[in-house]
Amino acid sequence: AEAGKAMAGALQYQDMQVHEVMTPLDDVFMISIDDKLTFELIAEVFKSGFSRIPVYEIDEDNIVGLLLVKDLIFVDPEDETPVKSFIQIFGRGLHVVWPDQSLGDCLRTFKQGRGHMALVRDVSYDDEHPERDPTYVVKGIITLEDIIEEILGAEIVDE
Ligand code: ADP
Repeated sequence: AEAGKAMAGALQYQDMQVHEVMTPLDDVFMISIDDKLTFELIAEVFKSGFSRIPVYEIDEDNIVGLLLVKDLIFVDPEDETPVKSFIQIFGRGLHVVWPDQSLGDCLRTFKQGRGHMALVRDVSYDDEHPERDPTYVVKGIITLEDIIEEILGAEIVDE
């Protein structure tokens, strides 16, 4: 029965869209580029349990980089290293996908490399000021795991 569910999931996931499985921005654990890697912040990052932490500048929807938790082994909390200088050395680029892109598309993006997390970004038009240029807004993040969960048709219980 499990194999059958996976087969059906494998057939259906391709037509689903990114926004249906993404983690919405409000639920994303992130840090500011103006933070310092103090003992407290590092403890908070470990406690979050996530392996990748988006880094924002000023506004939470302005994500400028990605901190890989495993890179924190290079950090001495006593130094209170600014996230900014850490990111310049270790920061990784992020894929960007649209909310209405298909999961099949998104999976192909992940296969091209540069990591298995993408920013979900949309274009926003200001209805009250149609003369203004549209801006980008970040809606959330999506990872390979979100897609695999769809393929398997079940939540993955993380070890
Ligand atoms: P991890 O390796 O950190 O466990 P996964 O890629 O396995 O992350 O994703 C597990 C779930 O957690 C997915 O639903 C993903 O969207 C979500 N997720 C990943 N990183 C974060 C984060 N920094 N904040 C909030 N949710 C996240």
